[in-house]
Amino acid sequence: MKNISILGSTGSIGTQALSVIEAHPDLYRVCAITGQSNANLLVSQALKFKPELVVICDLDLYNEVKAALAHTEIKVLAGVDALCEAASLPQANFVLTAIVGSAGLKPTIAAIKAGKDIGLANKETLVVAGDLVMRLAKEFGVKVIPVDSEHSAIFQCLVGEELNSVEKIYLTASGGPFRGKDRNFLQTVTKNEALKHPNWVMGAKITIDSASLMNKGLEVIEAKWLFDLEADQIDVIVHPQSIVHSLVQFNDGSMKAQMGLPDMKLPIHYAFAYPGRISSNFKRFNFMDCPELTFSQADAKTFRNLDLAYQALRKGGNMACIVNAANEVVVSAFLKDQIGFLEMSDVIESCMNKVEFIAEPSLNNYLETDAHTRIFAHQLVTKQVK
Ligand code: NAD
Ligand code: MG
Repeated sequence: MKNISILGSTGSIGTQALSVIEAHPDLYRVCAITGQSNANLLVSQALKFKPELVVICDLDLYNEVKAALAHTEIKVLAGVDALCEAASLPQANFVLTAIVGSAGLKPTIAAIKAGKDIGLANKETLVVAGDLVMRLAKEFGVKVIPVDSEHSAIFQCLVGEELNSVEKIYLTASGGPFRGKDRNFLQTVTKNEALKHPNWVMGAKITIDSASLMNKGLEVIEAKWLFDLEADQIDVIVHPQSIVHSLVQFNDGSMKAQMGLPDMKLPIHYAFAYPGRISSNFKRFNFMDCPELTFSQADAKTFRNLDLAYQALRKGGNMACIVNAANEVVVSAFLKDQIGFLEMSDVIESCMNKVEFIAEPSLNNYLETDAHTRIFAHQLVTKQVK
């Protein structure tokens, strides 16, 4: 029996993870769930899955959640520190990190230090502090199993292979709703247009990241840390059908790809079942529904974020942390109609140029960089608000 803590159970990944668990009550149990502000959903999940612990991060909602669960044995906690408690709960032997943003960093570290294997959806944690997190995972003998579909694909292609036989990997990108558009077009796009992803239904932040190609930039950095690769070994290829989830090219020229319908329940299910496979009734891919799989070059000139992420990866130190924090601020501003789509990259670039660079950051340095960058990015956004 796998006892699973889900950090971010009320989100897109969190709710899909619960549906995977619900389908296999003989294999999986939920022991902790957490949510930021959707108290109603969190309470109904708690009543259904009966975890030991429920954490509502928004302190103002504590009384509401506590009262709704008063007739149960479930412990209710609130606040950010309680996330670390959910991550290191003694009953848990697996933690799914499905929080969005760098808020996932501290609880992920808490889970690793408590010896819990990690199902990692929260890519921002590796973007911010990948060196530190992977070093800790090694030290504490913890497995980090990717849930991001591209990284799950690479991980699956690498089963039975030596890491040093990898020549390069290709991360596939759908291209998002603005594939093929030019900067003139992007100048005036709205958040509603950006939120219409052609293939995936996801949380708002990752959907905007997908439209701006920052999601692929973050994934390039995530792949560096998960698979111990250099920037030159990681390529991005646009594949609008999202059937080939990513590919590995080996040193003998052979390539392996992992394929399937675009459904996040698949990589979640794989991460839970790893190292085995467990049968599922997910819809199967039919070649005749999609007889043409196409590939094209990513347009990093139009979608500058991809280029900025590669620059950060090559620079190292806290630069990816700067990019991530600036991106979190600009995405939130774009979602509030405070800045335009193209201005997001401008603010990120200014932060990369202005925030202090630290070549060998400690955890505190990362946390400070995250905080400083947010302040600076906010100032830049405020200047742009008309
Ligand atoms: P979402 O916005 O739907 O859900 C985020 C979850 O985190 C919610 O439960 C929310 O309550 C919680 N949360 C938000 N801010 C928080 C904070 N500051 N502190 C604590 N909890 C907080 O997001 P999502 O789409 O499920 O994405 C979650 C993570 O998984 C992201 O890192 C994303 O990049 C990654 N991911 C998502 C998908 C997808 O299909 N949705 C695919 C690949 C990777
Ligand atoms: Mg992905």
